Amino acid sequence: MTAILGAGMSGLSAAYYALGTSKLAPLVVFEATNRVGGWVRSIKQPDGTIFEKGPRIIRISAQNILPLIEELDLSCKIIPIKMHHAAVKNRYVYADNALHSVPNSLKSIFTKNTLLNRSMISVLWKDFRAPKASKDDESVYSFVERRFGKDMAEKMAAPVFCGICGGDIHMLSAKSFMPKLVEFEQKHGSIFIGSIREMPNKIKEIKSMNTGTIANSYLVQRAKREVWRMWGLKGGFEQLPQALAENIAKRGVNIKMESNCEQIVFNKNSVELTVNGKVEEYSRIISGLPAKSLANLVQKQHPELSKELLGIPTVTIAVVNLQFSGNVLPVKAFGVLVPPKEEIPILGVTFDSCVLPQNSNRTVLTVMMGGAWFEKYFGECSSEEHLKTVATEYATKILQIHENPTASNVSILRNCIPQYTIGHAQRLNCIHDYISAHKIPLGLCGSSYRGLGVVDVILSAKEAVSNINLP
Ligand SMILES: Cc1cc2nc3c(=O)[nH]c(=O)nc-3n(C[C@H](O)[C@H](O)[C@H](O)COP(=O)(O)OP(=O)(O)OC[C@H]3O[C@@H](n4cnc5c(N)ncnc54)[C@H](O)[C@@H]3O)c2cc1C
Repeated sequence: MTAILGAGMSGLSAAYYALGTSKLAPLVVFEATNRVGGWVRSIKQPDGTIFEKGPRIIRISAQNILPLIEELDLSCKIIPIKMHHAAVKNRYVYADNALHSVPNSLKSIFTKNTLLNRSMISVLWKDFRAPKASKDDESVYSFVERRFGKDMAEKMAAPVFCGICGGDIHMLSAKSFMPKLVEFEQKHGSIFIGSIREMPNKIKEIKSMNTGTIANSYLVQRAKREVWRMWGLKGGFEQLPQALAENIAKRGVNIKMESNCEQIVFNKNSVELTVNGKVEEYSRIISGLPAKSLANLVQKQHPELSKELLGIPTVTIAVVNLQFSGNVLPVKAFGVLVPPKEEIPILGVTFDSCVLPQNSNRTVLTVMMGGAWFEKYFGECSSEEHLKTVATEYATKILQIHENPTASNVSILRNCIPQYTIGHAQRLNCIHDYISAHKIPLGLCGSSYRGLGVVDVILSAKEAVSNINLP
């Protein structure tokens, strides 16, 4: 009998994949709250507009999850975002009181861009000439600054990472976030040369992945034919975890809501799991909990493991959805990001109504704030009203919007995004070595470990199911 902890995307996916192997059945999923989905949450407004609180866009990657969408009967809900869509081509950075377009075409590589005040060719030239440094790990800032220059680190990499994880690139690990680039430097002495030399291998890798279920998927074929770059779900992204939960429940998985897991004790032939004060016995555990939550559960029996799990910090994000009447955006794009050095209390704004249009008479924006700077800007004053005022003030100023929002929604997502800080890869090795050395029947999945996005956590669940120590 297997206990799966957490009914976020990772826990639900773990149950879904565990159903494919009879060795793990029967399966019980424990969820502390009264809803499935974790950070995936779509809120329907009275006029039908959807405000997304968490994920909304999935990038097409080599190991895509489109076959899963097909199996869950969600194909008809897919909104594809194709190569020439404005959201694919246009991204902006707000710096020095102006919006700057991020270079997005071959032509823009050769021309001077207003953000850096130089061309991308000079950036590549710097990389070509920069000496190789052998470091086990370093910050994203240090890596980008060494290879491409200080301006690239501060004006390009820093806002991009605000968008990816609300993180400070002085703290984030280059090895965990840009493993390929780090490898290219080590192998080829330059990222530019590495990307050219490794191109044939990359093509081979993509071809070899597109086999089996992936190759046979109708949606994968369609995505290839129509050159999709990203996709979302009509009616809200929350339908994905809901469909997953429905699918696994129909196939016999017991999903127990409002069941807070409090402690785990691993015995020789069983596992004691304390849920809402009561002890239950299982054969193994698959955890889809954030590392911090799992750390508390194993602290008593395995303080060393708990300490390593606690070494994966998180940041808090304030998400403010704003709706305006009519089209108020000055440009069509994915959105705008703000470099921390601008000292403006927002991380960025996603242009939801441009990326995933819902109603042509409305503009919908999501303003993300806080992250590594949550305490600095909002620690003392984080009331919803204050957050809404700050989000509206800066979003309208940056985008030169002169109207007031007609609807809004504020959420503070406490500890929602794990931070892969310098040494993260080594920390993961310690965690995995500890689990296998002590033969603990514990599988780990979720965004705390090897990838922050929805696709990453689904794949982490698949791996956790196939790698778990069976007692
Ligand atoms: C603002 C924001 C925007 C994002 N945008 C995107 C995007 O556009 N694209 C993308 O790919 N990804 C995006 N992500 C990332 C994506 O949301 C995560 O990868 C994913 O939701 C993580 O799922 P998870 O199952 O690992 O964790 P969670 O969603 O944290 O799920 C963990 C579950 O465990 C439960 N739990 C916790 N403690 C206990 C306990 N003791 N007992 C029982 N249950 C417990 C929680 O209630 C929760 O339901 C975004 C994330 C955020 C926060």
